[in-house]
Amino acid sequence: MSEVLLQVNNLKKYFPIHGGVLQRTVGHVKAVDDVSFHINKGETFGLVGESGCGKSTIGRTILRLHEKTSGEVLYKGTDLHSLSKKQLRAMRPKLQIVFQDPYSSLNPRIKIGDAIGEALLDHGIYNSRKEVREIVLETMKICGLSSYHIDRYPHEFSGGQRQRIGIARSLILNPDFIVADEPVSALDVSIQAQVINLLQDLQQTKQLTYMFISHDLSVIQHLCTQVGVMYLGSMAELAPRDELFRNPLHPYTKALLSAIPVPDPTYKRDRIVLQGDIPSPANPPSGCKFHTRCPIATDRCKQEVPAFRDMGNKHYVACHLV
Ligand code: SF4
Repeated sequence: MSEVLLQVNNLKKYFPIHGGVLQRTVGHVKAVDDVSFHINKGETFGLVGESGCGKSTIGRTILRLHEKTSGEVLYKGTDLHSLSKKQLRAMRPKLQIVFQDPYSSLNPRIKIGDAIGEALLDHGIYNSRKEVREIVLETMKICGLSSYHIDRYPHEFSGGQRQRIGIARSLILNPDFIVADEPVSALDVSIQAQVINLLQDLQQTKQLTYMFISHDLSVIQHLCTQVGVMYLGSMAELAPRDELFRNPLHPYTKALLSAIPVPDPTYKRDRIVLQGDIPSPANPPSGCKFHTRCPIATDRCKQEVPAFRDMGNKHYVACHLV
């Protein structure tokens, strides 16, 4: 039996919208709206969807970089959102994040060796600078960085190397679980493959569990064991990778899959082009949130929220017509 590392139950994250002279709360952006799933130890859980669908907010709310509005995030059975600041700080080393743009989180005046090692000193795990330097060098090595890089500054590195620095920073505290938030989206395709290979190698050697956030289904298909498809703050479909790609059920998933480029130029796939823009999460459509763009929507879809139903084979979908 697989061991559940992370369980997310009915998670909501609403951001208040302030307006008027008194800056009162006049509404909410429902960035994450009643989402549930779990991630088994050693798994890579992929979260996919268009930008603005709430993927990154879920990742950040899981790690408590955002406070939740309601729901639970259980890590090894402990609700992270019920921990005191001190308890959360003690838990932090086990839960890390890799950002899309590591450069923005690096101080241009701090050498990358110090940037990678600062969490060790901060958490009091290693006390002497010499000890920190040794472990930083070891971590840099497994992330494909050379020892002479340790005294260089962020601007001296390429995009791919900066992402390796971001991965080294997340790895230095020996985590169990890493949220990788679009870690390869800003990189050239050839560099993307190197960083993905690095993440896969590290998963093997360090027994890591990943939540991999991406808008790119090809990357998700290559890397993930389970996939959740998000639309406007809600989970539209959730299934094991092969099941989802072989047998997509939700019209939104079908549209996303139809847009994946096929390497064989003789093979013609019918592309499903969605009409209109993604609606605002501050004012989501009634009933099924996808009904304004769904090619097969009915009147029922405009009024009734579809339940997230178990279709067998660990496959879940929120659609009236499935
Ligand atoms: Fe489309 Fe209706 Fe299914 Fe929503 S519930 S995805 S609108 S068919």
